[in-house]
Amino acid sequence: MRFLITGGAGFLGSHLTDAMLGQGHEVTILDVASDLKVRHQLGNPQFRYVRDSILNREILEGLISWCDVVYHLAAVVGVEHYVGDPYQVLNVNVNGIQAVLQVAFKAQKKVVFSSTSEVYGKSSVVPFREEGDRVLGSTKIDRWCYSTSKAVGEHFCFAFHKLGLPVVVIRYFNVYGPRLDQMDVGRVITIFLGQVLRGEPVTVVGDGKQTRCFTYVDDAIRATVSAGLKEEAVGEIINIGSDEEICIKDLAAVMVRLSGSRSSLTFVPQEAVYGKSYEDIRRRVPDIRRMREILDVSPQVKLEEGLRRTIDWFRSPS
Ligand code: UDP
Repeated sequence: MRFLITGGAGFLGSHLTDAMLGQGHEVTILDVASDLKVRHQLGNPQFRYVRDSILNREILEGLISWCDVVYHLAAVVGVEHYVGDPYQVLNVNVNGIQAVLQVAFKAQKKVVFSSTSEVYGKSSVVPFREEGDRVLGSTKIDRWCYSTSKAVGEHFCFAFHKLGLPVVVIRYFNVYGPRLDQMDVGRVITIFLGQVLRGEPVTVVGDGKQTRCFTYVDDAIRATVSAGLKEEAVGEIINIGSDEEICIKDLAAVMVRLSGSRSSLTFVPQEAVYGKSYEDIRRRVPDIRRMREILDVSPQVKLEEGLRRTIDWFRSPS
């Protein structure tokens, strides 16, 4: 089959590209980012890398008419962007999915939309079920713009589904692994990694009792592949995550131990890291019954094993 993966040069996109090519499919990626994470595929005749914007309509039309299924992963992601450049987040995320759906609708191609656990916001009804309520803060608080942009994207998906387009919405929960952001930036695991590998204090935000369920990238990708192939997934929202919950303080301690670091933990106030325009999520736990039942995928890589692999990779990236 032929897959178009927008955002294919990113963390998830590059792993999805590897998986699809590994299964003998043809893959074209559309991304503005450098080829750093897909460089190892550049000589592969089944692979094509188009470096352009998701908002370039002409390119998008050509690529969507070529493919069988579109995976729309291109987005502006990362806390630093939610609070630093909300305009870019809203512009790319909302107009990107809209453009993909409009073109895919004309061509009648299935769209898999990568959404996020951020959509649930600060809901306290855990585990988060796909049809559960979203609880967001004020629009004066920039951090909610990402959650909102993805929720708008989901609404667009279901609006087009109503018109007859096959769509699947997947919501990722804190996926990590090799090729995640650069060390020291982006998400908590890469920030902690830089600190533990240098033996510096690990910056735990707040009291560190906030929890997440980190999902190893291989598990997330198996579920993602399945979401594009299984007929039963069409028209659904499906959480992609793990149910191994850990608080951030414990995550820091585990990473210190696994890397053999001499780092200590230091507790820093939230405003010092993200500024005032931020609200943290206290508990984020997915209900993964649909992932198991519809996608037929269960998480297999335990957190310690996944962290070990991730630490090894960042020590000597390949
Ligand atoms: N966090 C932390 N120290 C850091 C960076 C992040 O304690 O240096 C915390 C952050 O406050 C949040 C959790 O780690 O509670 C996960 O943050 P991340 O940005 O990775 O993703 P989120 O799940 O919040 O979208």
